Amino acid sequence: MRDELDEALCKKYPKIFKMRNATAQESCMCWGFSHGDGWYDILDAACANIQSHTDWKRKTEPYAGMSDEEFCDIHQPVAAQVKEKFGGLRFYVDNCDDYVRGVIAMTESMSYRTCEYCGSQGVKRPGGWIKTLCDPCNKKE
Ligand SMILES: [Zn+2]
Repeated sequence: MRDELDEALCKKYPKIFKMRNATAQESCMCWGFSHGDGWYDILDAACANIQSHTDWKRKTEPYAGMSDEEFCDIHQPVAAQVKEKFGGLRFYVDNCDDYVRGVIAMTESMSYRTCEYCGSQGVKRPGGWIKTLCDPCNKKE
């Protein structure tokens, strides 16, 4: 994904992408977002849901009594890797609860219906290198 979209997501969701500038030993997030620009919106929507759920959870018992550090260590979802594989988005996140797992499952399924390059409606294209693309982007390939 191009730099400005990468930076926009990291700025909007600093807690989820806190490992973005980690070393290769610490996190695969050091490689950035290894997919096309077309999936920015579904990733943005996923992160908005994940962070608002986590912020709400933070205020409820038994989490409200925890220190910020303790809560974040265990309950703040943190992206470990975001990439394309076999035509779909793979969004690997640490510290997931069931809600976050559901959001991620939905995000990954939407990627199979969304052109990886431009974000239009897409379909999975067979071939040696499987990609999910719209007709115009597929013709350009
Ligand atoms: Zn397209």
